[in-house]
Amino acid sequence: MEYRHVALIGLGLIASSVSHAIRRAGLPTRITGTARSAETRGVAARLGLCEVFDTVEEAVEGADLVLLCVPVGAMAEVTRAMARRLAPGATVSDVGSVKQAVIDAVTPHLPRGVQFIPGHPLAGTEHSGPASGFAALFDNRWCLLTPLAGTDPAALAKLRGFWEALGAKVDTMEADHHDLVLAVTSHVPHLIAYTMVGVADDLRRVTASEVINYSAAGFRDFTRIAASDPVMWRDVFLNNREATLEILGRFTEELFALQRAIRTSDGALLHAYFTRTRAIRRGIIEAGQDTPAPDFGRIAATGGS
Ligand code: NAP
Repeated sequence: MEYRHVALIGLGLIASSVSHAIRRAGLPTRITGTARSAETRGVAARLGLCEVFDTVEEAVEGADLVLLCVPVGAMAEVTRAMARRLAPGATVSDVGSVKQAVIDAVTPHLPRGVQFIPGHPLAGTEHSGPASGFAALFDNRWCLLTPLAGTDPAALAKLRGFWEALGAKVDTMEADHHDLVLAVTSHVPHLIAYTMVGVADDLRRVTASEVINYSAAGFRDFTRIAASDPVMWRDVFLNNREATLEILGRFTEELFALQRAIRTSDGALLHAYFTRTRAIRRGIIEAGQDTPAPDFGRIAATGGS
């Protein structure tokens, strides 16, 4: 059973990709939406992403699925704005990169009779805005749902079917566990990329043009990740503080161990370490989550976090 009417709150990369993927799947769904700025709403209307409204309240009127596609720090504000206009029996979900903080921000504002089923498609690029979306973004990517105690199984099954129709594979897990897993697989790696690009920028002995002209694959990939939306990533770290700090602590310990191995010329340790990590890359390729193409499959793959 499909949704009759999906409302997209926020019209950036993820929401525009959802719109394209709904159309590609041929779902007979009315799509409405809104964004904060008149500029974004104008671009979305010109691109025909959805019926664009000026306010959150108008956009959600009559929707049986409301998908919150705003930065994590804006979830409470948009929920407060729409709460009184939600249709009884509607499902509210989100695509935020952090789950427990979104649950804490959203649930206090929702009326009875509305199902809140948090979600997170593990798909993205470093681009943002309404023109950056594309229909294939979710293909073969995981979408993690973190249902709350008491979630209606039928509502959960319907949301699962929706993401599968958009091309995603769906799994469910506890919100806390989601936040720890994503700290390892996405949040701390982003922080490391931001740091490395910052170091290169600060290092006066290497000129900016040398960094740009001679950047090898490793650094280039860091710069791609470090070009991600600053608001989104600020909110991720402010809202997944504990898990990020835990993984960062472990990362720092490992870094010191490798630093020591380099200083003491412990080639055996370095070789054993890099052999173990190489196997993880192989596992990701075997799971179909990246391509074995050289240069990180830059052209073939577009997925991110
Ligand atoms: P985006 O391209 O920057 O779009 C964000 C949208 O939210 C914009 O349309 C923005 O409107 C709107 N917005 C921001 N604050 C708002 C507010 N207070 N009220 C109403 N609308 C507001 O971001 P995105 O990449 O689609 O990310 C959206 C969500 O998806 C985030 O929670 C992020 O954590 C999650 N996510 C992102 C990725 C990724 O790789 N990008 C992957 C998975 C999940 P204006 O343009 O008018 O400011």
